[in-house]
Amino acid sequence: MSDNAVLIARRERLLGRNMSLFYEDPVHLVRGEGVWLWDADGRKYLDCYNNVPHVGHCHPRVVEAITRQASTLNTHTRYLHEGILNYVERLTATFDKSLNAAILTCTGSEANDVALRMAQAMTGKTGVIATNHTYHGNTTAVSQLSTRMPPVGGFGGHVRHVPAPDSYRPLGGEGGDAFATAFAAEVEKAIASLQDSPHGFSAIIIDPFFANEGFPDLPPGFLDKTVAAVRRAGGLVITDEVQPGFGRTGTHIWGHQHAGIVPDIVTLGKPMANGHPVGGVVANADTVNAFRKAFRYFNTFGGNPVSCAAAMAVLDVIEDENLIENARKVGEYTRVAFQKLAQKHSIIGDVRGSGLFMGTEFVLDRATKEPAPTQATRIVNEMRERGVLMGKIGIHQCATKIRPPMPFTTENADFMLSIFDDVLSGL
Ligand code: PMP
Repeated sequence: MSDNAVLIARRERLLGRNMSLFYEDPVHLVRGEGVWLWDADGRKYLDCYNNVPHVGHCHPRVVEAITRQASTLNTHTRYLHEGILNYVERLTATFDKSLNAAILTCTGSEANDVALRMAQAMTGKTGVIATNHTYHGNTTAVSQLSTRMPPVGGFGGHVRHVPAPDSYRPLGGEGGDAFATAFAAEVEKAIASLQDSPHGFSAIIIDPFFANEGFPDLPPGFLDKTVAAVRRAGGLVITDEVQPGFGRTGTHIWGHQHAGIVPDIVTLGKPMANGHPVGGVVANADTVNAFRKAFRYFNTFGGNPVSCAAAMAVLDVIEDENLIENARKVGEYTRVAFQKLAQKHSIIGDVRGSGLFMGTEFVLDRATKEPAPTQATRIVNEMRERGVLMGKIGIHQCATKIRPPMPFTTENADFMLSIFDDVLSGL
């Protein structure tokens, strides 16, 4: 048995079968630094996928912050400590003035779970709208929203799904304002359906960048009509920033700012502390107070001093290393290069994204836009064989998902692009 086969057998025995694992030939990682990863045989990989080590794998300033605080004190939030206060002050300063208080959690799922309950506390209703190709986490409540993994027994009656926006194949066949109007009309239908049900309408929850839906390129103001419809109906807008948050889109620190909206509740996760498990919910103090009054909420690990030190170091590094501007510049450079490759390889039907969150959608035929999921799987696996790690996503599972650590450089992009070109040439 190969070393990998031994590890896979141990995983199945100890952790259960059906645990997801990337690539036909899984990678056994042992070390990371910046945008690079090394496997157990000493082979080096360029990480073009991982948004959790946001400021780079094992960034020394985050490691130092964790080490310093872990060797001083770690405890829960039933004692007074400045760490959580300094962090939330710094974090909320990056949001609209109305979003001025926060609850810290350990995962994005927990953050979304809390957000749904905040909306319940504010509206007295439970009905929720999400897209039909989303994922918001793994708790019992939020797994009710995720069509990619339908819950046993089906969705609760309080959930309505609207079609995920797809800029390459827009709803109604037309882009621009017509596309935004068509999406808002679907949301209005879902609101009406919930209002006619015993659940009532509480909130819409969306990733403002629609990352799991395949990060469509949306026209400016795409969500304006949707947000207006939600507010008219007395509902709340929850934006899930687990993927686009912390500057990834290159234009703004938050995905909802990139989309030009001000939500009522924002949820955070993955990149927040560079791999240390930290999530959060940001909202107006009145919303946080209503939630705390309605649900006696306590989270043993959320907001502990070590987590806050790690999260604070991430904000420091984003600022000091000018990483949002880097995402804008390198992202733009890479997309232009992908456009050039699209002239050579007809399998590339679409190139899209913003900042360091981008990808190419593969099609069998540009005229019919017939998705090429089998080819997409093959391409991602061949990239892995050649030392570049990227993912696959989208409504038709035929788009590459490229979302590297934020210090990604144009040289890193060139390395990825030349291998991508070779892989497509060899198809
Ligand atoms: N929201 C979105 C948009 C996500 O992509 C994910 C995780 N992939 C989550 C929430 C859940 O986060 P976690 O795994 O930290 O619970």
